[in-house]
Amino acid sequence: MSSFATVAEQIKCDILSKTHVEDNAAKRKEIARTFISDTITVPTKEMYEYATLSTIGDDVYFEPSTNALETHIAKLTGKEAALFMPSGTASNQIALRTHLMQPPYSVLCDHRAHINKYEAGGAAFHSGAAVSALIPSNGNKIAIIGHHLTLNDVKQNIIMGTDTHLAPTEVVALENTLNGTIFPQDEIIAISDFVHSHGKKMHLDGARLWHVAAETGTSVKELCDPFDSISLCFSKGLGAPVGSCLAGSAAFIKKARWFRKLFGGGMRQTGILAASAAYALTYNFPLLEAGLEEIGVEITSKAETCMVFYDPASIGVTFDEIADRASDLPEPLILGGSRLVIHIQTSEGAVNDFLSIIRQLAEEKRAAGFVKPPPAANGVYKDIYVRRIPKTTA
Ligand SMILES: *Cc1c(COP(=O)(O)O)cnc(C)c1O
Repeated sequence: MSSFATVAEQIKCDILSKTHVEDNAAKRKEIARTFISDTITVPTKEMYEYATLSTIGDDVYFEPSTNALETHIAKLTGKEAALFMPSGTASNQIALRTHLMQPPYSVLCDHRAHINKYEAGGAAFHSGAAVSALIPSNGNKIAIIGHHLTLNDVKQNIIMGTDTHLAPTEVVALENTLNGTIFPQDEIIAISDFVHSHGKKMHLDGARLWHVAAETGTSVKELCDPFDSISLCFSKGLGAPVGSCLAGSAAFIKKARWFRKLFGGGMRQTGILAASAAYALTYNFPLLEAGLEEIGVEITSKAETCMVFYDPASIGVTFDEIADRASDLPEPLILGGSRLVIHIQTSEGAVNDFLSIIRQLAEEKRAAGFVKPPPAANGVYKDIYVRRIPKTTA
């Protein structure tokens, strides 16, 4: 063999297994019974068919279908411009990097915020920023932890002035929904007016802002008006395969495009991704209206949109016991810890099976003499997000 043929032989690759069609059918079933997240939602054949019609340009040199999506998102959010991003994390981190110019500075947010907890310390790494992560003060009996940051929380904790010991707050980053809860818009407006009156910036991590619009009937533009920059996600609740969008002023997006390239996120033929996102906005957004179930155990964070947090300790049951029962079903359910996420591809049967397991376990524990303990004293901090990585996923 010539050396070229040898090299070609080494390089060639077929990723399709003999059983991939059946495997994917089984995977779709599993997705309908998985409560760990809505990131697992998958493109449908119809979405892919629409995507193949997209334009085929290189987006580093401005791609028409991608541009059309960005223009639509800019209009939808009421901003001058938008930029397609590979992920929500990239979108948030590039937004912070674009807002933050000359250290020292800090970012103020809720302690549960994705930016604070689940972006691998990105604010420190990419922007050299300190993070002031606050526990909201408005806790109550249902959610001891507090529901959302208030104007007072922000006033009490924003860092301003010229004390050289401190890193001044440059950006206040809010999240809506946060753990599936809806941030009251009047509080957001009050915070925004205060923050802007001091010349600071407002960023919205709106990965699941779609749910707020669906649930409250408020326009996306109205929800975005108090913010200088907004990140929206297509690949979670809406079921597109890849992508988020960052929106802001023309000058902000121009700079963010530069940082996106610098961070390695300048992508080429993104038309198919933009088209999948557009399909998701058109056909999957209306599916978000689907009803949500409440569960007869302690609800640590009420279901306002697609997420509910619960604590089965109140019925004497552990998350592992529930997960074990779930994986023993003829058609297993895949569960994380305290967080249940319902998505557009969740089956009703899966919800009913989950509730049956809880009822059954509660019954067994009661029969074995379990007595419900008194509730924790109010004001006690309780971290409601018990993360449990399911055994079936890597
Ligand atoms: C998932 C998520 C992100 C990050 O999105 P990725 O695409 O997973 O990087 C950011 N913010 C919130 C609120 C999220 O839920």
